[in-house]
Amino acid sequence: MLHELSFTTNNKIELMDITHEIEEFVKESGVEEGRLLIFVPHATAAVIVNEHESGLLNDYVKWLKKTFYTGGWEHDLIDNNAAAHLASAFIGCSRTLPVREARIVRGTWQNIFLVELDGPRKNRKVVLQTIKKV
Ligand code: ZN
Repeated sequence: MLHELSFTTNNKIELMDITHEIEEFVKESGVEEGRLLIFVPHATAAVIVNEHESGLLNDYVKWLKKTFYTGGWEHDLIDNNAAAHLASAFIGCSRTLPVREARIVRGTWQNIFLVELDGPRKNRKVVLQTIKKV
């Protein structure tokens, strides 16, 4: 089962917790055991799995700024968002998680975040696909 979620982001760099929406989809998909693919069809966004703690979310933004948003990239001459492309490529645009008893298998401190790297944007898509174990 394939499903597409859409989100509006509010900041240049932002971590949006989308765990609840994804868990709802997995429940509705009817897959008891299998896998979930989470895919972001954007070159300037990413998806991560990590702890939802406000200090850590700020640290993540700080780390992204220090690492990628330094200027001096060639692509900035085109549309001034090289850092967002580089961070997206480095972090990754997809994650695959196990599904068991119709729920995502994840650790207590593992939430799922859409990572906006060139916001704000009105229509960030997250494509979800459950794959049933055969
Ligand atoms: Zn670009």
